[in-house]
Amino acid sequence: MIEVQSLHKQYGSINAVNGVNFEVNRGEILGFLGPNGAGKSTTMKMITGFIRPTSGTVLVDNIDVQKHPVSVKERIGYMPESGPVYGEMTVEEFLTFIAEVRGFDDATTKEDQIDRVCDLCRLNSVRHQSIETLSKGYKQRVGFAQAVLHDPPVLILDEPTDGLDPNQKKEVRKIIKSMAKDKVVILSTHILEEVSALCTRVIIIAKGQVIADESPESLLQRNKYFNALKLETEDVDLETVKQGLKDLPEVAAAEINDGSLEVFPKNKQSIETLVLKVCRENNWHISKFEKRPVSLDEVFWELTT
Ligand code: ATP
Repeated sequence: MIEVQSLHKQYGSINAVNGVNFEVNRGEILGFLGPNGAGKSTTMKMITGFIRPTSGTVLVDNIDVQKHPVSVKERIGYMPESGPVYGEMTVEEFLTFIAEVRGFDDATTKEDQIDRVCDLCRLNSVRHQSIETLSKGYKQRVGFAQAVLHDPPVLILDEPTDGLDPNQKKEVRKIIKSMAKDKVVILSTHILEEVSALCTRVIIIAKGQVIADESPESLLQRNKYFNALKLETEDVDLETVKQGLKDLPEVAAAEINDGSLEVFPKNKQSIETLVLKVCRENNWHISKFEKRPVSLDEVFWELTT
């Protein structure tokens, strides 16, 4: 559905985007992750035809964005980083304006589309309020409503939950999820829990290049602590346990840190049952036995620093 081929964007001496390639298909929610200035927004702007690439191609439904920008824009709903909402308009006036820009001339159809997005984004209670008087969360929802008003098959959302409180974040994610089934969604975010909650796939961008492209689950497995165990003992020296475990064929390493023994498996395999069996056979009494928690934060940190 979207093909990004050798995309470059140069601003003077800055390589904002430096050879990005990927494809996304219907039903996928692709999360764009990366440190500040990595090139996420620039890539999104080139996909939507908002700016021209220095070189490279973007195809949406096999249509070249540079050759047929209007056809591509008809298929895309775009929510830029700071939503382009006109503060002096009411929500209703703004959405009516967007509906006209999107070519809904017939009054009934226009009204139907506005009703639909006001229901979807829960905007009915503020429909006649001017946008500048809305809270950040509601402004964000208005930005989202304008992006989906023409029910596009492709949604490009630049930090859609930025600055929202935890309840509003949850609400916006629910809306995105409910819309995503038969669409392509690309969203950028700094919030790693958002990736786990929403995305079927993650692309990490750093210095204008793709450095990881996989599912959130497989990204987690890159964490060196994936399936690692942490043990504390009651009546036996940790060193004895370490010596007993470190040479097992399934164990890659065992280390004592801060009064705990950390045991790392080979190939990130699960070794809980095996380690428990060895402890039982040796009559070692274990007072604490847990899987070391792993997070995307650690993977993100390792990949981008
Ligand atoms: P953030 O997470 O902070 O929003 P980002 O990953 O979206 O960052 P971009 O906004 O795409 O990053 O910026 C990539 C690089 O390009 C940065 O170094 C930025 O300063 C530079 N840049 C972006 N737009 C312009 C511009 N119009 N003129 C000059 N440099 C620009």
